[in-house]
Amino acid sequence: MEIRIEHLNYIYGLGTSYEKKALDDISLTIRSGEFIGIIGHTGSGKSTLIQHLNGLNRASSGQIFVDGKKIYEDGYPMRQLRFRVGLVFQYPEYQIFETTVLKDICFGPKNQGLSEEEAGGRARAAMRMVGLDESYENKSPFELSGGQKRRVAIAGILAMNPEVLVLDEPTAGLDPKGRDDILGVLKQLHQESGITVVLVSHSMEDVADYASRIIVLDKGKVLYDDIPARVFSHVEELESIGLAAPQVTYVMRALRRMGWDVSQDVTTQAEA
Ligand code: ADP
Repeated sequence: MEIRIEHLNYIYGLGTSYEKKALDDISLTIRSGEFIGIIGHTGSGKSTLIQHLNGLNRASSGQIFVDGKKIYEDGYPMRQLRFRVGLVFQYPEYQIFETTVLKDICFGPKNQGLSEEEAGGRARAAMRMVGLDESYENKSPFELSGGQKRRVAIAGILAMNPEVLVLDEPTAGLDPKGRDDILGVLKQLHQESGITVVLVSHSMEDVADYASRIIVLDKGKVLYDDIPARVFSHVEELESIGLAAPQVTYVMRALRRMGWDVSQDVTTQAEA
């Protein structure tokens, strides 16, 4: 699934005295199978942007093409788009309400109209994808740790079989181990299922290790959209918009993973 955004603008409170332009002429394309990190300071427009990807928010102007079809055209199957692009909100565990893990994960697929049995099959597959074994099925979600609850919430979205998984600050509020756990789950999920992953974060380090492309937002605009190594080379610009550059070790790791020789000039390798 390809999502192409063209000249997207979004204004909160249009026509009121609270008018606020949250997205300013955004154009970008999300291709099938990518792992994209979207970073930016608080208020840069990250959440607003991703809420456009599944039609939850409707642009003030501009267009989004999904596999070449305009989504803001009469008759576009918006309900299906909601399922095709799975959105994991910030602190998704607050939306867990069922008495067992399995029931909670079944909620989405049942809402899609699947039978109890089909939904159960989807839910079990989703649990495996996030590394929760069968022993969790009948546990109360409320007994779990923060990181495990978050896995349950992600599984609840995966059970709807999305083609794109979008996560808003999935590591917020977790301790370093919980953070590494969740990011590890996403990395493995991406590698094994080939699902497109869009990860929103205000932390460079979260995305440095996993994304193959980074989009930097500032005041509702795309400031950079490039491979991590090139984005990280703009150290001063990133600091000036409130993003601490990742530690050198992170950058080095990202480069080595891409098979680059870090003893050589990286910019020439980027061009190659
Ligand atoms: P981020 O996710 O990067 O923190 P947001 O997309 O939440 O940024 O916000 C972008 C801008 O839109 C900010 O200036 C924010 O204050 C404003 N904004 C967000 N939500 C609303 C809303 N519901 N009503 C009015 N303004 C909003």
